[in-house]
Amino acid sequence: MSRTLFTSRAGGDLKLPANRQTLGQAISLTTLHFMRQTHSDLVMVVDEKGENFECDALVTSTPGVGIAALAADCMPITFSAESVVGVAHIGRVGLGSAIAIKTVRAMRELGAQEIVATIGPSICRDCYEVSSDMYREFILHTPASSTSQAQHSLDLQRGVRAQLEANSVTVINLNLCTLENPLYFSFRRGGESARQAGIISL
Ligand SMILES: [Zn+2]
Repeated sequence: MSRTLFTSRAGGDLKLPANRQTLGQAISLTTLHFMRQTHSDLVMVVDEKGENFECDALVTSTPGVGIAALAADCMPITFSAESVVGVAHIGRVGLGSAIAIKTVRAMRELGAQEIVATIGPSICRDCYEVSSDMYREFILHTPASSTSQAQHSLDLQRGVRAQLEANSVTVINLNLCTLENPLYFSFRRGGESARQAGIISL
């Protein structure tokens, strides 16, 4: 049985160690791992040891070890299975490099069978406008992210859903837009550098 949590602005800026510590205590986890995220496609399997892993997805089969992904418009995604959990930070770059699928593979190597992924608060298709050039190029590789050439905004949530469903993962989208909802930190709303998190543990 896993536990999943998506924090909001009320959880404070989780880039700050003091807020991470407060959160870990509040949810009774002795170990709560964060990453040094770089929009990479790197997935790491962790237990209670180590800290500040340089990657964009974590997987663990150790009970009581929380794993967290920071985001503020990008998608924090949690993955749960019977005896393995995962978490990933996925934006446009991570969608392009299919880190979601790499996370699922790492979980299956540890014995995961039925996997449920939850897409946390993140920017929605109506709010994520990019240049028309970037739009054209991106949807060549991830057509599920397309909206319209006139709108040239990307639907990252739908894009990752397509990747995951093609790999037999059940997907839940919380459908919470960070830019439209002031309860959440949003980079695009005003260049906010603060981050909320998606967290999961066994
Ligand atoms: Zn929106």
